[in-house]
Amino acid sequence: MSNYWNNALQIDTVQKTSLRYLAVNYIKTGKPHISYTTLQPTIVDVWKGIIKSRMMTRTYTLQADRHKLSRYEIAPTCQLCNQGPEDLPHMLTTCSALSETRKETFAPIKIYITKFIRERKWKETFIDRHKITVLIIDCTNFTHIFSESKLKIEELETLTRNMFYKMHDSRLKLISV
Ligand SMILES: [Zn+2]
Repeated sequence: MSNYWNNALQIDTVQKTSLRYLAVNYIKTGKPHISYTTLQPTIVDVWKGIIKSRMMTRTYTLQADRHKLSRYEIAPTCQLCNQGPEDLPHMLTTCSALSETRKETFAPIKIYITKFIRERKWKETFIDRHKITVLIIDCTNFTHIFSESKLKIEELETLTRNMFYKMHDSRLKLISV
């Protein structure tokens, strides 16, 4: 019976583009994702978890989403830098207005991972902005890369959650100026 639901969930997740960044193979019904199990019972941490889960399920609204939701009436252009459509890869890896926050919060992620895998492996795995986006959204997508090392996926989840929260916070501050 639980296999049935696992399969149903996996088919559903593949078909829903909104869930395309989740590590489908690791999702098991009845077992919470580590983005929940690694949360500390503090208001700040729960809030970070909420923001992260909105990003994971693609219910976090960026300008490119407003563009689609408005039936293309609203421009998808990033309001912070005006240098292209604002989607998740743009926000997380490209937007020049967020470069300081990105540098500050991505560095600990890279330092942590390269403690456990060689620099060459890092370059082969995180080859482009799409792969980096996937890493930040749901690091369990790369469990197979880390499985032979002592890297703690929970630790990585905490670092990526922190990065997204700070990026979200910087973005909001810039928008409301
Ligand atoms: Zn931008």
